[in-house]
Amino acid sequence: MLKVSYMYARHDVTQENFRKYLDGMLEQKRWQPAALAAERSFARMAGLASIKSMRISLGRYRGAAGASAGGAGDVFFKDDAIISITNVRESNHPEDFYNYEVMEYSPAIRRKKLRRSILIGVVAKESADSDEILKDFLEAFEEQVAKHSKGSASLKWEEVDLESPRLERLLEKLASEATAARFSSPDLGGETVKGADVLSIQANRELLRELSEAGFGRESDILARRGAKREVVQAALTDLASAGLTSTEFLLACKGTSAPLARFSNANETQTAPIANIRCGKCARTYSQELLSEGYSVSTLGRSLAQGSHWMTVWVTKRLVDLGIPTRSIVWNLEDSGEEVDIIIEFMSKLWIFELKDREFGPGDAHPFNYRRVRYGADEAFVITTDKVSTDAKRVFEDLARDSSGRTRTKPPNMIEGLASVEGEIRKHLEFASYQRAADALVMPSMTVGFALSDVIAEWVPSESLPSGFRRYYETEYYL
Ligand SMILES: [Zn+2]
Repeated sequence: MLKVSYMYARHDVTQENFRKYLDGMLEQKRWQPAALAAERSFARMAGLASIKSMRISLGRYRGAAGASAGGAGDVFFKDDAIISITNVRESNHPEDFYNYEVMEYSPAIRRKKLRRSILIGVVAKESADSDEILKDFLEAFEEQVAKHSKGSASLKWEEVDLESPRLERLLEKLASEATAARFSSPDLGGETVKGADVLSIQANRELLRELSEAGFGRESDILARRGAKREVVQAALTDLASAGLTSTEFLLACKGTSAPLARFSNANETQTAPIANIRCGKCARTYSQELLSEGYSVSTLGRSLAQGSHWMTVWVTKRLVDLGIPTRSIVWNLEDSGEEVDIIIEFMSKLWIFELKDREFGPGDAHPFNYRRVRYGADEAFVITTDKVSTDAKRVFEDLARDSSGRTRTKPPNMIEGLASVEGEIRKHLEFASYQRAADALVMPSMTVGFALSDVIAEWVPSESLPSGFRRYYETEYYL
């Protein structure tokens, strides 16, 4: 995953003087302004050894009307990090106009209205020590500021908050509606997670369902019914018991008729008064003399995880947390209504919804899901099923994705069939989302230096996480 951050410091400097800082950086060799170095090299090859600046002819940024290239700024590369720097003033001077407009329309920081500031952006691989890298860069840059600006105060850097509280706002909106579902924070206690892991195995779920329907099962009976699958069932019984999804119980049965008499959680109960002295209605024996056999029933934990396939919510949430989503950015719907989405998460200021089914996802599930998706304003939607998404349900999503003129309306959700691919699929989407956010952040520096920096970070993301046509998307979205 890629990290993105921005910071700024109030500092009033003309573009011309700002370029002197960059020239100074080029000379000190510690941090090389890449575009300026490339320009100088280009000028030398053209036989223009003395030229200061060789402007590159650039395209235009779609968002900012009339903002074609020409602003001051540069980018620096070090240890899997890109640092971009620019100078933002007012829009009243032609030279300042470009930087100002592009900043104002830049998807990453358009909400921040900066005036007379130096703006620094950092995009780094997750493994990069970006704090250390930035500290070193600021040291080198501030040296040049001190050298080239007379009597200027030291720069005070402030981080730009890139988050917008989408989830919080959605929950507020839903809380104000009487009929809407209520969402709550996830509970990932160790017992719950372990139980969900055990139930992610189909044989374990089947056995728990069987026990739940029967109320109680003797080990010998359970094994006898399965015949050839004996070993699988034996393992399932052990798994369920060790995760606390079943409780051991004792069944007392009449020795004469084999009819069940009562169940006990403790074997000693039938040997102590008053229960020991109760007489069987079917034969002459007392309870202490009847046949006691050990077996299993579904525990409270087992019931709560089986209810509405809650185990799946826990299991998927654990994957999300392991992939780096903080639990405060995840909410669960615990109402047992089949029409509500099960999980909503906020990731990089985007809302993602998850619908989970421990069965086939059918056409009857597709319409309510699409409705929630539109109602919640979700940016990404996932259907996760232990089985399949039916052909009819897929057709419903395809129909919803087109209007009569054939244009795309809502793209079909991401459909994940089978638990085995859940983690890998979600990771891909998280990686691509982090790429998108980094590419958004690099629009402005790309326009400044004339190189598509999103191509650099595309190399930092596993290629299978980048959908086909992602480059064209960025070109048409941002540039003319
Ligand atoms: Zn009896």
